[in-house]
Amino acid sequence: MAAHRNILILTGAGISAESGIDTFRGGGGLWEQHRVEDVATPEAFARDPDLVLRFYDMRRAAIQTREPNPAHAALARLEQLWPGEVTVVTQNVDDLHERAGSHNVMHMHGEHLSAWCTACGERMGWTGPLLDRPPCPSCDEPSLRPDIVWFGEIPYRMEEIHAALDRADLFVSIGTSGAVYPAAGFVRLAREIGAETLEINLEPSQGTHWFDEARHGPAGRQVPAWVEELLAGL
Ligand code: NAD
Repeated sequence: MAAHRNILILTGAGISAESGIDTFRGGGGLWEQHRVEDVATPEAFARDPDLVLRFYDMRRAAIQTREPNPAHAALARLEQLWPGEVTVVTQNVDDLHERAGSHNVMHMHGEHLSAWCTACGERMGWTGPLLDRPPCPSCDEPSLRPDIVWFGEIPYRMEEIHAALDRADLFVSIGTSGAVYPAAGFVRLAREIGAETLEINLEPSQGTHWFDEARHGPAGRQVPAWVEELLAGL
């Protein structure tokens, strides 16, 4: 393992589950009591903006009461101590990686604590509600939406993510179901360039057969154990 210089880590909702943030598919196909199509698509926002804004206002408020868990902390420790590059590409829209101390984090699906003005295009840090249609601090229009990549929209930072994948010697997927593309395809890209691949998930994901190695169990236990193994081999 010490031979691995550049590590790319893809994280999903499962890494934040032990911090008390619901995963997507945990609740019998519903996400926080809603069908995904009703709250996480541009069509839903056009049809019923109040429902979508209220939903994201609740999620934005909730994540601010949650704390990083030992899995987030272990990845921050790895970034600090590993001699090569450690990049976290996350599908999560919470800020628990950053609050645990990770710096090299790319949010491919946006962030709860960011708003995006559909009038002037500006993005800005945002912690409060959007339902009451606050004016954009840049252009004064009441046109802010959650800075979240909804289903049917293009994920952020794909060029940088592909470049980081190209440099990776080890690809690790943590707490993701392997059901949402393009992230679900990263393991195959990593294999193509000869990187080793590891899955850490509560249970085998849909794409588990693509990985060289799989470790199953809660991220809060599996991730710190894996990080300590890597660091012990330095
Ligand atoms: P998902 O809900 O589809 O899958 C979560 C995976 O995590 C499952 O395979 C499950 O077995 C596993 N898991 C659950 N608890 C775990 C634990 N304690 N330890 C390890 N693994 C555990 O999530 P996904 O694959 O990330 O789906 C992608 C979509 O979900 C993204 O678009 C993302 O934006 C969105 N999402 C994000 C958050 C968040 O930001 N925290 C929360 C819910 C959904």
